[in-house]
Amino acid sequence: MTKIIQHIQQSDKTLFSFEILPPLKGESIQQLFKAIDPLMEFKPKFIDVTYHREEYVYKKRENGLLERQTIRKRPGTVGICAAIMNHFKVDAVPHIICGGFSKEETENALIDLDFLGIDNVLVLRGDAIKSEGSFTSDPNGHSYATELLVQVNDMNNGKYLEEINMSHTNFCIGVAGYPEKHFEAPSLNTDLKYLKQKVDLGAEFIVTQMFFDNKKYFEFVNKCRDMGITVPIIPGLKPITTKKQLTILPSIFHIDLPDELVLEIEKCKTNDHVKQVGIEWGIKQSKELMEAGVPCLHYYSMSKSDAVRQIAETLF
Ligand code: FAD
Repeated sequence: MTKIIQHIQQSDKTLFSFEILPPLKGESIQQLFKAIDPLMEFKPKFIDVTYHREEYVYKKRENGLLERQTIRKRPGTVGICAAIMNHFKVDAVPHIICGGFSKEETENALIDLDFLGIDNVLVLRGDAIKSEGSFTSDPNGHSYATELLVQVNDMNNGKYLEEINMSHTNFCIGVAGYPEKHFEAPSLNTDLKYLKQKVDLGAEFIVTQMFFDNKKYFEFVNKCRDMGITVPIIPGLKPITTKKQLTILPSIFHIDLPDELVLEIEKCKTNDHVKQVGIEWGIKQSKELMEAGVPCLHYYSMSKSDAVRQIAETLF
């Protein structure tokens, strides 16, 4: 299949792409297809599929004590990518994360992806376990995206964990960037230093965290360029659809919402109205970014297509 960097280089127009989540364990892939279907007419060049690390749940035993169980609520990223490519004939980009994986498990997952002809990956550190305050890595795994990137790049050069001179994988590697700074980084400049490291280690494109004020994206891109980061920086956009997201999004994603948007949403009496405001904001943001010539507009659909569809209808 085509590498993301080639999709970008081969087009003189802004591309359309979106991210979906694997369904909760036990749900069928048909539900996911139903969420993707309405977006296919806008010809996405790729669809990202998130990866979710394990979570802890506590179950009460007969003796009254709590037993901790480790579960993965949204498994299936690799299989879903293959299913998407097979069903929709579009490139799928699996997210691969450090958290919860040993280096060997990562190597095996990358071998699966390679065999399936999946040549794009978004390399991430991953979130902390939900019930834990901070990120912990697997004892035999990676602590930062930079380390995982080295492993993927090594495999692209035929270097596996135990052997060298093996078959070369062919991954085009993307990484995450944060226009409003990663929440753990002491400063934006420190964060950018590590972003530059990710690019120097072989990342060919950057996808940003969601943002609601384009000024933050433009400033971020300028700072990246000043530091010598020259790869495409794909803006990530999320249409707001419920009032609750006014507090949830900043707390989960560590981003700011512009006052103008907050005031508009606070005035809304129903979530239908909120959704309309979110869509209009998304259209305004997207149009301005498109006019500025961004390589691609990437939407965080959260596996719900309606709002993204209404934005895409006006643009693609
Ligand atoms: P890193 O690049 O490793 O950075 C993490 C922090 O450490 C930053 O503060 C950085 O400044 C610092 N740092 C980086 N390298 C070093 C180093 N070598 N030494 C010291 N400090 C360093 N999470 C998931 O669990 N699953 C997903 O599918 C997923 N998809 C995402 C997609 C996008 C586009 C984005 C923006 C985020 C996604 N996330 C996902 C969330 C992401 O995993 C978290 O934001 C995570 O906390 C950081 O990941 P990262 O790859 O940016 O980490």
